[in-house]
Parts: sequence; structure tokens; C-alpha cells
Amino acid sequence: MKIGMSHGAGGEVMGNLISETILKNISKKSVNGGIGLNALDDGATIPLGDIEIVVTTDGHTINPLFFPGGNIGRISAAGTINDIAVMGAKPLAITNGMIIKEGFDIDDLDVIIKSMNETCEEVDVGVIAGDTKVMEQDKLDGLVMVTSGLGIVQKGKAIRDSSLEVGDKIIISGSVGDHGMSLMAFRKGFEFETDLKSDVAPVWGVVSRSLDVGGVTAMKDPTRGGLANAINEMAKKSDVGVMLHDDLIPVKEEVKAVSDMLGIDPYDVANEGKVVMGVKSESANDVLKAIRKDRYGHDAEIIGEVVEGSRVLVETPVGGTRILESPIADPVPRVC
Ligand code: MG
Repeated sequence: MKIGMSHGAGGEVMGNLISETILKNISKKSVNGGIGLNALDDGATIPLGDIEIVVTTDGHTINPLFFPGGNIGRISAAGTINDIAVMGAKPLAITNGMIIKEGFDIDDLDVIIKSMNETCEEVDVGVIAGDTKVMEQDKLDGLVMVTSGLGIVQKGKAIRDSSLEVGDKIIISGSVGDHGMSLMAFRKGFEFETDLKSDVAPVWGVVSRSLDVGGVTAMKDPTRGGLANAINEMAKKSDVGVMLHDDLIPVKEEVKAVSDMLGIDPYDVANEGKVVMGVKSESANDVLKAIRKDRYGHDAEIIGEVVEGSRVLVETPVGGTRILESPIADPVPRVC
């Protein structure tokens, strides 16, 4: 069997590749009893004394490199920072490895690195190591970036994606589908492309405000495969069901329009500046208020609750329910 695009699209097909070809061939998957590769969480941890170092790594193959609302530099920084943040850890630094195509415009690279830097500055993250390689014209599509992230959390305080509890409220920090749908509209050249922008942003502010309030049980950033993939993964790993409410899930009008036109569910589409979290019912309103004070959390909503069972259900405005499955693969390829 050969690799297909869906093997990198964040759905079931990629999941199978990871378990069958990657996890099976690695023997030591965690260090010092920390959260390791087997957990397939947003990041891993290495406990050291009173703290845990949180690490993550991320490859970026987004097409196109410049898109409405950002570029590969911003998404590299934000994507990595966000995987650290949703572990409940303060992001400290990233590293940046670049593979650049021969003939790539240095002015474009300058803009990309400036964006990466600005994104890091927003949350006081350093870029502390890197690597630069060049490949021949016909061997590579522009630029590939590989970033790793480092963060820190008090020992035992890392937030998992597998610890939802029955009764928790589900909060999303803003509208869903903006990133994937803006990319799709931009690629297709729709007229209203100008209104639609990626949400790409670092979410440490949203996360730290929530942690300050307390009661957060589980977190994930809904990137490839969107909200549908993230919430299904959280429910499955936590061995619970989730009931969401269609009319409470924020979706921008333009995103709805593009979704309808293309027949793609915005719940299946990547976000790059959002957090899905489980929060204890009694803390949910306070956490929501705190998130809404953040520049990237104004549109946050409580969109459902954790229930007994094993499925993610969505209650429709007419009173019916449907099952929300993980997409087989993100419907928008090369989205991050
Ligand atoms: Mg993640």
C-alpha cells in the first residue's frame, strides 16, 4: 500500500497509519512516567522534580503559503504554541526547521519569519533553535516548516484530552470552520473571499484565563478534522458520550455560505485558533466569561454537555438528534 493524501489529513485513515506503522515500531514511548506517544495527545510530558516539561512537534505543508489571515510562519508558530497550551502548559519556546525550495523568494521568507516572530511575541514565546535546508527546484513544493514546542506545567497539572467527565459542559472558544473554509474559498477564488479569514492565532490567553478560573477537565485544539474530530477523540478516549446543540455552535455566515456551496460540514473543517474544553458544570459560566474577555475568545459559547454513552450526538434546532462522526479525513487537504 502507498501513502495517499488522506494519510496526512487527520482522520481515521491517518489514525490507522499512526497505530500500525508508527507506534508499533517505536519501543520507548514515554520518559520518567510522563505522558508519551501512546496517548496521542496534543503534547507529551517529561516529569522533572516539581514540574513537567511539555513537548510537541508539528510539520507544516499548508497550501498556499500565504492565505487570508496568515501565512505558513504564523500557522507554524500558532499551531505549535496551541498544542502546548491545550496541555495546560505555559508555552516557553519553539524551534523551527525549514526545508526550502531552490528559487524561493527571500523577501517572502522574510515576511514568513516576521509573522512567526510576531505570533510568538503575542504570547512571549522564544524561537530558540532552528535548521535550514534547501532542496532542488523540482523536489519540493515551496517551503515546508517543522516546528517543535516546549512548555512547562506543575507536576500532575497537565490537562489531557481524555479526561471528560459526565456532567461537564463543553465550551468552544469561538466560531468553527473559519480556517479550512477560508482556505477553500481562497483556493477556489470565490467573490466573497475578502470577508473570510483564517482564525490562525495563539490560544494561550484563552487557556490561561480558563485555568485561572479552574474546573477545566479536558482540552484539545480542533485542527484537522475540525470540531467533529476533536470532540469524538475526546469522547472516545474519555469513554463518555457528548450531546452538542446545533443552534449553540458558533458558525460565521460566510463559513455557512461556503460550506453549503461545497457540501462540506463546517464541523469537519480545521480551526487554527480555537480550543474545545470540558469544564465542570458549576464553573462553566465563569470560564466562559473569562474566555470572552480574551481577544481570541469573544465568540466563545457553551455548546453542549458530557453524557453517559459512547457517541457524539447533535441536537438539531427542530428537536431531532443526529450522530456526529469523525470525518474519514479532513475535507480540505493541506490545511496546515
Ligand atoms: Mg492539537
